Amino acid sequence: MKPKILLIYTGGTIGMMKDPETKALRAFDFSKLLVHIPEIKQLDCEIDTFSFDDPIDSSDMNLEEWRKLGDVINKNYDDYHGFVVLHGSDTMSYTGSTLSFMFENLTKPIILTGSQLPIGDLRTDAKENLITSLQLAVEQDQDGPIIKEVCIYFEYQLYRANRTAKMNAEHFEAFSSPNYPPLAISGVNLNIDKSLLWKWQVDDPAFAKAKQEKTPVPDSNRMRYRPDLVDRVVVLKLFPGITEEVVGAICQINGLEGIVLETYGSGNAPTQKWFVNLLKEALEKGIRMVNVTQCIGGAVAMGKYETSIQLQKIGLVSGNDITTEAALAKMMYLLQHTDSPASFRKYFETSLRGEITE
Ligand code: ASP
Repeated sequence: MKPKILLIYTGGTIGMMKDPETKALRAFDFSKLLVHIPEIKQLDCEIDTFSFDDPIDSSDMNLEEWRKLGDVINKNYDDYHGFVVLHGSDTMSYTGSTLSFMFENLTKPIILTGSQLPIGDLRTDAKENLITSLQLAVEQDQDGPIIKEVCIYFEYQLYRANRTAKMNAEHFEAFSSPNYPPLAISGVNLNIDKSLLWKWQVDDPAFAKAKQEKTPVPDSNRMRYRPDLVDRVVVLKLFPGITEEVVGAICQINGLEGIVLETYGSGNAPTQKWFVNLLKEALEKGIRMVNVTQCIGGAVAMGKYETSIQLQKIGLVSGNDITTEAALAKMMYLLQHTDSPASFRKYFETSLRGEITE
C-alpha cells in the first residue's frame, strides 16, 4: 500500500498571480497551482489535497486561521501518513512553531513549505520545495513515519520549524535555524540526520493538568490536539531610547497576560529604575514575562552581565536560545495550560518540542 499524504494549501507566493489591476501578487485557487506541477504524479505515494476556501497571504495569519489549519490536520490525522502544508514564507516560522505546540505526541510529519517565486514563474523555487517536502513526508521505516514533528522545508534544507526564523526576503534560502542544525539536507541523496529528530515525551503541561484534574488521561502513545491559545500577549522589542511612556503603556494594556521581552545580546536591558519598576509591577500583577534575545543566534544568560541581573531578580523567565517566533507560540500555549507563575516557568524553561537547548 502506498503512503498517503494530505497536501494542504493555505496560500502564499507559491500559488500567487499578479492581479491584473493592481499588479500586486495575490493568492489564487489551488487547482491552478497543481497544473504547474504534473511531476508529483510520479511520486511513490497517494496525494489528496485540501485548500482553504480563501487562500491568504501569510501576513493575514492569525489564531482563527491556525485553528482552521490545525482542525484540518486533526480531522484527517488517522487517515494519512503525513501532511505537507503550503504556506507563505512571511509567517511560516510562527505557524510552524504554533503547530508544534498544538500537536502533542505527534507521530507523523507536518512539513510546511512555500516559495519565494510563484509556481508559474520560469525560475520558480516552488517545484523543488514541494516535491522534496512530499518525499520527506513519506519517509518510513519499520515503525512508521521517520519524521514525527513539525518542520519547514526550504531551499534544500529541512528544519525543525520552531527553531527557524525568516531571514531573507530576496534569496531562495529564506530561513535560518541558528541554534539547531538542519534535520535533513537535500543533495544527490536525501540525507536525514536521525540523531537530530525529535522524540516525543509525555511531560507536557496539558498532559500534567489533565492528570491533576483527573480528566481522562490520554494514552501516552497518542497524539493530542490542543488548539486553544491565549492571544493576550505582546512582543516588546527594546531599543536605545525607549521611553517610560511606551513601556508603561504596554504594561498597562487591559487584560494583558504575557510579554515576550526582546532584549540585547545575552539578555541585557537598561538598568534605569523606571524601567525595572515598570516590569516588576507588571510581574506582580500576574503578567508572565520571558526574556529572549534580539540576536539571530545564541542564548539568554541572565546574570552574565550586570545589565541582566535585575531582570533575573524581579523574576523574568529565561527564554534561553528560543526564537521570538517560538517564544510567542509557547507563551500562547502555556498561558492556556498552566495556572501559576511557577508552572509557567517550569514548562517554559523545559524543552517541550525541541524548541530550546537543554
Ligand atoms: N507575502 C507572501 C506570504 O507570506 C510571501 C511568501 O509567500 O513567501 O504569503
